[in-house]
Amino acid sequence: MEPPLDRSTTWPYVDGEPGPFHYARNAHPVGVEAERALGALEGGTALLFPSGMGASTALLLALLQPGQVVALAEDAYYGTGVLLGELERWGLRHALFDQTGPPPANADLVWIEAPSNPLLTMPDFEAAAAHPGLVVCDATAATPVHLQALERGCDLVLHSATKYLAGHHDAMLGAVVALDPAHAARLLELRTRTGIVAAPDAAWLLLRGLKTLEVRVERQSATAAALAELLRGHPAVEHVRYPGFGALLSFDVPDARAVETATTRIANATSLGGVTSTMESRRRWEGERVPAGLLRLAVGLEPVEALWADLEQALGKA
Ligand code: PLP
Repeated sequence: MEPPLDRSTTWPYVDGEPGPFHYARNAHPVGVEAERALGALEGGTALLFPSGMGASTALLLALLQPGQVVALAEDAYYGTGVLLGELERWGLRHALFDQTGPPPANADLVWIEAPSNPLLTMPDFEAAAAHPGLVVCDATAATPVHLQALERGCDLVLHSATKYLAGHHDAMLGAVVALDPAHAARLLELRTRTGIVAAPDAAWLLLRGLKTLEVRVERQSATAAALAELLRGHPAVEHVRYPGFGALLSFDVPDARAVETATTRIANATSLGGVTSTMESRRRWEGERVPAGLLRLAVGLEPVEALWADLEQALGKA
C-alpha cells in the first residue's frame, strides 16, 4: 500500500524538540519513503528534487566550487549544457568531450549520460571510472532496470524522475543517488538551505510509479527494439539510433515536421518515459546540434502493431 499523502508543512514537536519531521523543507514522510525505494533500486542514498534540472542544479552547487571544471558529454541532454552555461556567471567552467572515450584529465567532475538523449550513445564507463574526478551519470533513459551506474564506477546517478521513474507524464521530479553518504549529506544540506525541494504529491506519484517500473520498462523496451528493426527496413528512414535496450530511439527522415504532425496514436509532444508514446523533431529545441531530420521517439505501452501502423502511415508523408 502507498503511505498516506501527508501534505503537512509542519509537524508538532515531540516533548518540545523537533521530531524526524518538523518542517517540510527539511523532509516530509512521502518524500523520505520514495527516496528509500529509489535508493534501494540504485544501491545508494537517494534525494528528491522538484525536477531533473533542479536535481542537476543542486548537485553542481553542492559539490563544486567556482573555478572548477565539469567535463560534460557533448551529446548529453541539451538542458544540462544550458545549465552549465548559466552557471558560468558564477565561476563554474565546463568543457565538452566525446563520452565514448576517456574524459579530459583536468576535470573536477565528469558528467556522462546513458544512453544520451537523443543521439543514444553510451559512455565508456571504464574510462570514466578511472578518472580521478567525481563521476555523475544521468541514467534517465536507462533507468535502474537496465543500468546500475554506481556499480559501474560512478559516484552519483541523476534522474529526471519526470520520465520513466514516475512514468505517466503527470509528475515533475528529479533525483540524485549518491554512493558516498557524505555527498548525500552535503546535498541534503544544500537542498534544505536553498529550498530546491520536491512536493509530497509528486513523491507519492513516484512511489506508485516505481511499483510498475520494471514491467513498464521491459515492455516498452521490447516494443522499442521491434520498432527500431522495422524502422531500419523502411525506405523513408535514413538512420536509426537505438542502443539495443531501453525505450528511447531516434531516426532521421527527409521531412521531420511532415512525419511528426502526421501521427495519430503517437502524440506529437515533448518529453519521454511515459506510458503513452511521444515523438518530436528535436531541431526546434536543440538547433544544429542535431540533424534537421531527427525524430525522437519515446515508446509507451501501446501495442507494437498499433505503433508501427501509425509510424508507417506517417512515414508515407516523409
Ligand atoms: N536529463 C535527461 C536525460 C532528460 O531527458 C531531461 C529532460 O528531458 C532532464 C535531464 C531534465 O529533467 P526535467 O525535465 O525533469 O527537469
